[in-house]
Amino acid sequence: MTTAISPPRRIVLGTSNAKKCLELRQLLEPLGYELLSLAQVDHPLDVDETGQTFMDNARLKAIAQAKHLNEWTIGEDSGLCVPYLNGAPGIYSARYSAPAATDARNNEKLLYELRDARDQQRDAYYISTIALSDPSGQVLIEADGRCWGRIIDEYRGSGGFGYDPLFEIREYHRTFAELGATVKGVLSHRGRALQKFIGQLSLLSN
Ligand code: IMP
Repeated sequence: MTTAISPPRRIVLGTSNAKKCLELRQLLEPLGYELLSLAQVDHPLDVDETGQTFMDNARLKAIAQAKHLNEWTIGEDSGLCVPYLNGAPGIYSARYSAPAATDARNNEKLLYELRDARDQQRDAYYISTIALSDPSGQVLIEADGRCWGRIIDEYRGSGGFGYDPLFEIREYHRTFAELGATVKGVLSHRGRALQKFIGQLSLLSN
């Protein structure tokens, strides 16, 4: 890593997940960054997630898109891990039930896999990994964040996306789908990864 590079004010968010994009914007835009979604750039790449870890995939997405677009790019890879299921769905969270899965099908599969699980066995965590690549493909920042909760056996709430209606924060007795965007932004894996990311971004500026 180097500190001799001036920080970007304009950053591409290298994800085609609109809800994820919104959550990244919610925390980064107030700091004065101009953020472009993949829908706002010409001919973005469709990057294959071939890595063996979340961070591998975040790096892959950042580097490939940054070089292709000649723009500073954030790659984010995230997912849900259930220790009782040996870490599944893990890096396959988006395609847990099938290669072209839907959130509803993924949630159904998760409930099925946990049908016999008792309370402590339903513990789970979300993880978010973020990498920032410069236009040459050099990764200047890496950050990650986790958030623990448990998988309940009914759907609750209408906010968020993915596994959120099943993911309850124990202390709040509410799922992320019930807690709303502001609370999720503070507590979530993505919020925590972004806080670390922002700290490193400001160091890069000095
Ligand atoms: P990615 O786009 O490959 O990083 O896949 C992320 C997948 O992990 C999503 O499709 C969701 O299934 C799950 N996921 C990641 N973050 C969240 C979240 O904040 N809420 C709910 N599901 C999430």
